[in-house]
Amino acid sequence: MKIIDTHCHLNDDAYTSDLDKVILRAKEAGITHVFNNGDSLPSFSKILSLQERYPSFCFSVLGIHPEFASESDTYFEEAYQFIRDHKDSISAIGEIGLDYHYSKDPAYVENQKRRFIEQIKLAKELNLPIVIHSRDADYDTLEIIKQTLPPKLDLHCFSGSYEILRQYLLLPIEVHIGIGGVCTFKNARVIKEVIENSDISIFLTETDCPYLAPVPYRGNRNEPSYLKNIIEQIATLKDLTVEECATILYENGRKFYDLPRE
Ligand SMILES: [Zn+2]
Repeated sequence: MKIIDTHCHLNDDAYTSDLDKVILRAKEAGITHVFNNGDSLPSFSKILSLQERYPSFCFSVLGIHPEFASESDTYFEEAYQFIRDHKDSISAIGEIGLDYHYSKDPAYVENQKRRFIEQIKLAKELNLPIVIHSRDADYDTLEIIKQTLPPKLDLHCFSGSYEILRQYLLLPIEVHIGIGGVCTFKNARVIKEVIENSDISIFLTETDCPYLAPVPYRGNRNEPSYLKNIIEQIATLKDLTVEECATILYENGRKFYDLPRE
């Protein structure tokens, strides 16, 4: 079984002491590629250094998370310059988007929207897909996507309803949703409904590790080797064997990130 972790953070401090072991376990579990996603400017060089340390296994997705939307113009100019300078080493722009969970302060919201739109433009300029983080901001995110129409996107850790997903799927762009540990949670009714109602061709497997570990690891540090538990849940909901499901999901990830056929 081959599996791709389309969204994770192995650059996180949670792995400082045992990253080699985490990667070994991932490889033993069939993980062939992991895509580390940036959040802040300091995360960029850490992510690229993982790509050098684990070539053909760790890949880089760079972008500024909405949490940092109120950083200065200089900060963002530096981030965009870094991305342009390293564009050949980058697989996508992310994670970028809107997050209204902790604050809906109007100035903060405006900054988030502005930086999100700027980074979508950057992705278009560099011809890269985007990885979106959207939390408690479903309709504003959709509105910006409607206005900017980035050709290829991943709604990472999708938490919206089937109804909002349907609106994305009406757009003339390639839309994918990232599915992670949440779908294994007992009370996760909305995402289970989305999985049951949607075509499997839009799903991407992700851990978002170190966060959101699937059952039975819920609450602990997450890692790519746990993806098997997520795939088992998707297979159950789609009435497929785990093998069949894994093959389709691997192919979805391979195409999203334009990886060569092996
Ligand atoms: Zn993430």
